[in-house]
Amino acid sequence: MLAPGSTIGILGGGQLGRMMAMSAAQLGYRVHVFAPDEHSVAADVSPAHTRADWSASAALAAFAEACDVITYEFENVPVAPLLALDQAKLAPGPRALEVAQDRFSEKSFVSELGGTPAPFAAVDSMADLEAAIARFGTPAIVKTRRDGYDGKGQWRIASAADISASEVVATPMVFEGFVTFEAEFSVILVRGRDGEVRFWDSTHNTHEQGILAHSVLPAPAIVGEQVPEARALAQRIAEALGYVGVMTCEFFATDDGPVFNEMAPRVHNSGHWTIEGAVTSQFENHIRAIAGLPLGDTSSVAGKVVMDNLIGPEAFAIARHLADPRAHLHLYGKLEAREGRKMGHITRVG
Ligand code: AMP
Repeated sequence: MLAPGSTIGILGGGQLGRMMAMSAAQLGYRVHVFAPDEHSVAADVSPAHTRADWSASAALAAFAEACDVITYEFENVPVAPLLALDQAKLAPGPRALEVAQDRFSEKSFVSELGGTPAPFAAVDSMADLEAAIARFGTPAIVKTRRDGYDGKGQWRIASAADISASEVVATPMVFEGFVTFEAEFSVILVRGRDGEVRFWDSTHNTHEQGILAHSVLPAPAIVGEQVPEARALAQRIAEALGYVGVMTCEFFATDDGPVFNEMAPRVHNSGHWTIEGAVTSQFENHIRAIAGLPLGDTSSVAGKVVMDNLIGPEAFAIARHLADPRAHLHLYGKLEAREGRKMGHITRVG
């Protein structure tokens, strides 16, 4: 067990790191944030901060030296520089990042474990794209293999003419058949150092412009029916990776069962409701897991929980948000409320 006063390193400086840091502080740990960003909202609430690029190997080595355990709040941390660090300090291990950073390796990995992603194929040329369309049909979605998030780096296509040849060859892509789904949900689990696994309830997640807008409990019946199969897959993924900490898998609930969309080797926006809506939040259990502490109860505290994301300038309409005395307002401390930027969220329980 990590002793009180030990230092937890967080790679990445956004709101996920901020909420992790607040849970770490609650448990008596110190947090050191490593992030390249000019302003890090995680560093705002942490006693130590290294601002450096991911490639600054001396800064990364000094950071690792100063930390007892190191975790991630951002899945696109380059893996190569991490391999030079003391691997025993990293939780989860870098293999989880490696798999999750590339949509093609992620879907291949999950298929090998018996999961069902949308039909997919690697696309590096127009010929690959035409072959994928001939094999799987349209509509389809072409996504960049790396660095896409919140619907960025994606093209919905009805034919090969809907994406330019220059875009196709600019960066490695993956073709995905379009999934007709009834609902989207995620499985969020925590796995301890001893292999114990706990799951939070699965919310119904709705997206607007590719960005999560709401997570709601209870989810529709079809989600409840598909959760056991989705959980079993998520657990196999976590076990295959020797995973320690909180891990998220996103699914589409379809008439043919749960279709795997993607995984995140970290706490997740669709788990923010757990701060007030579950006995132990995803942030606290992530810190407990990486610190080797006993895991907390993941049960929901009420049958009805609603989490609404605050995107862009509307986040600062504070009086309106707090007009409902039951609203738990979370603002991430971002100074500029740009359109499409996640600025905070509100949770209502019961
Ligand atoms: P992603 O960044 O891959 O999670 O995609 C963002 C959102 O786009 C998802 O949450 C879905 O709402 C939608 N989406 C992504 N891939 C597919 C697909 N293959 N079929 C249907 N909808 C999709």
